[in-house]
Amino acid sequence: MTDGVSDQSPLTLRDLSQIGVDRLKGVGERKLASLRDVGVETVLDLLTTYPRRWVDRTNECRVSDLAPGQEALVLVTVRSVSKRPTKNRRTIVEAVVGDGSGRFHIVFFNQPWREKQLREGLQVALFGKPEVKYGGLQMANPIVDLIGDRTGKIVPIYPQSEKAALTTWEIAGWVEDALKRCEPRGIADPVPAAVVRRLGMVARHQALASIHLPETYAEKEVARRRLAFDELLRVQTVLVMRKRALERESKGIRHTIDGELTGRLRAALPYELTGAQQRAIGEIEVDLAGPHPMHRLLQGDVGAGKTLVAVSAMLTAVQGGHQAALMAPTEVLAEQHAAGVRRLLQGVTVPDPGNLFGDRALRVELLTNRITGADRKAVMAGLADGTVDIAIGTHALIQDAVQFHSLGVVVVDEQHRFGVEQRAALRDKGDGELVPDVLVMTATPIPRTAAMTVYGDLDVSVLDELPPGRTPIRTKWANGALMEQGAWATVREQVAEGRQAYVVCPLIEESEKLEVASAEETFERLVHQELQGLRIALLHGRMPSAEKEAVMDAFRRGEFDVLVATTVIEVGVDVPNATVMVILDADRFGIAQLHQLRGRVGRGAHESTCWLVTQEVEDHNPRVQALVDSTDGFVLAEADLELRGEGTLMNTAQKGRSDLKIASLRKDRELVELARGVAFEIVDADPLLERHPLMLDDVRLLFTDDDEAFLFKN
Ligand code: ADP
Ligand code: MG
Repeated sequence: MTDGVSDQSPLTLRDLSQIGVDRLKGVGERKLASLRDVGVETVLDLLTTYPRRWVDRTNECRVSDLAPGQEALVLVTVRSVSKRPTKNRRTIVEAVVGDGSGRFHIVFFNQPWREKQLREGLQVALFGKPEVKYGGLQMANPIVDLIGDRTGKIVPIYPQSEKAALTTWEIAGWVEDALKRCEPRGIADPVPAAVVRRLGMVARHQALASIHLPETYAEKEVARRRLAFDELLRVQTVLVMRKRALERESKGIRHTIDGELTGRLRAALPYELTGAQQRAIGEIEVDLAGPHPMHRLLQGDVGAGKTLVAVSAMLTAVQGGHQAALMAPTEVLAEQHAAGVRRLLQGVTVPDPGNLFGDRALRVELLTNRITGADRKAVMAGLADGTVDIAIGTHALIQDAVQFHSLGVVVVDEQHRFGVEQRAALRDKGDGELVPDVLVMTATPIPRTAAMTVYGDLDVSVLDELPPGRTPIRTKWANGALMEQGAWATVREQVAEGRQAYVVCPLIEESEKLEVASAEETFERLVHQELQGLRIALLHGRMPSAEKEAVMDAFRRGEFDVLVATTVIEVGVDVPNATVMVILDADRFGIAQLHQLRGRVGRGAHESTCWLVTQEVEDHNPRVQALVDSTDGFVLAEADLELRGEGTLMNTAQKGRSDLKIASLRKDRELVELARGVAFEIVDADPLLERHPLMLDDVRLLFTDDDEAFLFKN
């Protein structure tokens, strides 16, 4: 670009991000506004607006090749267009299209603007499924790409916007102009040439040119691979830099891993650790003994035994004279954890020189907003003077007023509900100089490559093995009211056998109030109809906590047969005698949540059943089907990623930072691993990228202010 700047060095992404699209040929006021509407302001934005498809003019299907019922792409010319209203005041636009080999009809329902779009003589690419209608072929609501009068063998099709009035050929024209004007200086390649060569990739400039204007499909694929790699490498470099900086900057506690307490815990267990638990505990102990603070994610399916691993880590802190904290996302869960941890640690003592007998009972305390008054004061005092060994709580643990005597290990449960800042706040509860070790637990497995990206600044341990003796859960889909009766029959049968059941009420995301109302309604209905005569209790989020607790306790003791609940039971509830779970309106839940809910049964020796009830009779529901097909959280996580794409996953964990425009965590698994490897290679040799200024410049575009402050504070 001629910029009045004498600098003739190759253009960096930052350079491109500083040139407005208004400098391009044919971008005036109006088009500038349109481009802004679709988020394109700079030449960088434009060049990274990648084609959504490519049409090979020489090799597409001809009209004579179309077969009824088979999706196909054809390049045709519009011969005629007409519009007519239907009986119910909608519109139908019909067109006749064709090529040299024949013609057929296309129809659009309720898209009146198509009449103006499809002018006679226009060349369009159509993608759709032709059917036989009135003796000829017809495509209903095909995808239409206007390709204009562009030449070239392979035509890029850009995401076009009717609303913003941008056509694919306009975008293509500007991209071509921009690329041409980049020619003289060239586009810089920040990835070391040796790496590019080793990976057999093309240079960045060539990749950018080929993705937009490929000569062949193969060339486009090669370009895509390079550009996807670049995106992933940027993300990984940021994550690896952050990880290494954390390790470099903060001094951790060298915990005592061969102390007595962890050994005693193991000896007292009524069962053997699973292989996966042993491996995870081993990995954690190496971290804990090391000079740097641990920063590790523990992934494990529901019921895989994460609590034990966490307790082992916490005991490691305690046996060295430090404290540990476990933070849970809800009060119910914190309370459950407290009860579970206390049970595991019953009778465990810690050395206490001040005590007559030389030791005292290990002290576990709960700290939530429900603990008030004198109780709260006592817990806070114990945390400050070190007599509380393990604190279990909610966000209450990270309030300013909470002071620890010597916080050594922090366990955070259910990562996805905590922000990174909250993790950091808890870490800061250390004594200022030594940073506590952090273990993050999640029961929502995510695929390995996704974990590398979303949690790329953490190390990961995986519990991929369930404790033995579990009887697999049978999952059934009750599709519609008739089949729902089967679910209630199962509940009755199991209750007759002395078992218990959960009924999960429909999820109503918008309003807890409505959700409670619907739970109450379900409760009433079951009491008077389907489950009449059984002992049924109701549990929902709006009940006072004492009451919730009372209901849960009574259910645990077997005083109720059926617990009708909202999703408050999603996590942590552990009643081995419960063998049936009925989830109403199961299609409102996501795969991960259904899997969590289902994990509440199958916790004892008896065979369990999970019924997924949906209202509408639909033959195909991929999410419900996935649950029916598998009980493996990792398999389901893959299915979830497959169905939802990575958008959701990335948004929650890392807003904006990893804007993947062309790379896909789903399709580019191999590239994610490659990129992570290269990031480590480069960052470990050059931690602040001082010898890789172009790369630094690249990744800095992705940094948050926090990253900047953290990575370059010195
Ligand atoms: P998670 O938190 O991963 O969902 P939990 O830690 O709640 O799983 O463990 C589920 C159940 O399995 C608990 O009742 C626990 O006592 C039991 N458990 C844990 N580890 C083992 C093991 N190695 N062998 C047998 N049972 C185990
Ligand atoms: Mg350590």
